Amino acid sequence: MTQEFKAFRGRIFDFDRDAGMNDLEKHYRYFPDGLLILKDGKVLACGDFEKLHAVFPGLDDVTDYSQCYIFPGFIDAHVHSVQTGAIASDGSQLLEWLANYVFPGEKQFDNDQYAYEHTAFFINQLLKNGTTTAAVFGSVHPASADAVFEISAQKNMRMICGNTWMDTNAPDYLLRSAGRSYDESVKLIGKWHGKQRLHFAVTPRFAVTSSPEGLEAAHALVEAYPGIYIQTHIAENKAEVHEAGRLHPSSRNYLDIYDRYGLVNNRTLLGHGIYLSEEEMERIAQTGASVVHCPTSNLFLGSGLFDQTKMLHHGIKTAVGSDIGAGTSFSMLQNLNEAYKISSLRGTPLNPLQLFYFITLGGAKVLNLDDRIGNFDPGKEADFVVIDPSENDLLNYRIARADSIEDILFSTVILGDDRIVRSVYVMGKKLIGKD
Ligand SMILES: [Zn+2]
Repeated sequence: MTQEFKAFRGRIFDFDRDAGMNDLEKHYRYFPDGLLILKDGKVLACGDFEKLHAVFPGLDDVTDYSQCYIFPGFIDAHVHSVQTGAIASDGSQLLEWLANYVFPGEKQFDNDQYAYEHTAFFINQLLKNGTTTAAVFGSVHPASADAVFEISAQKNMRMICGNTWMDTNAPDYLLRSAGRSYDESVKLIGKWHGKQRLHFAVTPRFAVTSSPEGLEAAHALVEAYPGIYIQTHIAENKAEVHEAGRLHPSSRNYLDIYDRYGLVNNRTLLGHGIYLSEEEMERIAQTGASVVHCPTSNLFLGSGLFDQTKMLHHGIKTAVGSDIGAGTSFSMLQNLNEAYKISSLRGTPLNPLQLFYFITLGGAKVLNLDDRIGNFDPGKEADFVVIDPSENDLLNYRIARADSIEDILFSTVILGDDRIVRSVYVMGKKLIGKD
């Protein structure tokens, strides 16, 4: 075997390409003694160690993670790179929280040096928690998105990002005219979109801080660059829903504020979606747009309890986002922990396969990236996380009593965090490693 081959032995878990939220028990793959073989940063083969090793007899340099679990890299489908400093700031709900903590914090990203340094910290937090792909909101400053793209490019990560647009109802220091945000986005697209593994998302923050002109300009950008993503917030908090309706009185409902400007399609990521009506959910399903559940954020800001069952009922694709800084953990495991509890309060608890699907293949499907990431099919980009339960003695103790892979996954979600992330690989290259 030549040098471009790499091989890893461990307890390998993923979902096959046909998996969906309703039938995961038929579509997961678990190799308690597995082998993952890479060629040039992509998956060449994945399967049982003995069987695969016999097919690739020259494979003598195998990295041994046999006491660890190997998962596809985690996907965080909604996170703010400019809010790490606002995490764990107490005492208010969404609209006051934005005014008190988020807007003053985002102002600091008008300094390019500050933007770069704090974004480097942010991306390291993603990686050390096992997150290898994220859909990221910057601030209104192009430097914030530039920093996300530049650092992601250095690390060769698959990332989605955009400069946030706000042309009304925000402090003067964060207001940008629609024309200016449009022009700055065009520059970012030219510089980064489609380069290496990077994608641009037009990012109107939410209906409250977008005027009709702002939404029309976002629509024009999508028309000019149909391959870009659209990311925003919707129906997160009751006061926000009321305010959005007041500011856009001619819209039928919250979704329609975006929909009438052509901003709801199968590349649209709608954050939160707690207070959506049946009519709005039907329309989201029709368009192929996705809703991103942000559990730790929704609990922290007291926003409400997401209804995954209704989303499933309507056939809406969903993923999970940390929503840092309203979210309280970069760990997608901890976000799943809270997603489980929310579903439990709703009376329809998610099962462990559904939980892991959100942050692997399901997340990749929401981002339309499931042809590239999300599982270990041959040809997939080799982003993966190595979980070592022995780094957390309580989890290790609990897993010793587990009687199935579902039980192992569940206890890992409830008890796990960044301590158990032993290594993280991006395109087959180790970026985080305790050894
Ligand atoms: Zn958010």
